[in-house]
Amino acid sequence: MKHKIFLTTKLLLTLILFLVLTVTTYSQDASIDKVEIKKDNQEIAVNDVVSVMVEGTNICLGCTLKHDKGASAQCKIYGHRHTLKVEKAYDGNGEELNYMAGWILHYLENDNSEEYITGHHNDELKIKGKVYTNARTLEVEEVKS
Ligand SMILES: [Zn+2]
Repeated sequence: MKHKIFLTTKLLLTLILFLVLTVTTYSQDASIDKVEIKKDNQEIAVNDVVSVMVEGTNICLGCTLKHDKGASAQCKIYGHRHTLKVEKAYDGNGEELNYMAGWILHYLENDNSEEYITGHHNDELKIKGKVYTNARTLEVEEVKS
């Protein structure tokens, strides 16, 4: 009899432990942070082309990598090649696209972007255009500043 009660108690405790673990795991998945990260990842995956207003600094990758990491860039010979280091990005509805903060966007070369690729060294820019997310490429439509 005593042995049977012991076994039943052991079974019940195991069941309770299992339930607690299941509930804990489930509530972690439902946390706000995880949902937002998932949403952002889906946006990256789904929206290969995103209409944006991006704010950032026009940095020369050669100069930056040479200064920060000792890369053997030769801007004095070949000239600067600028990219946009994103500080803030907004979609067409003015919603902030947090996942783009910190991205380095290469310019799609055309009449609108050429002067920003070769010039405007370290300028703060506000650009309306399109981001090809998988290619980290910015198509400039209009420069606001
Ligand atoms: Zn440079």
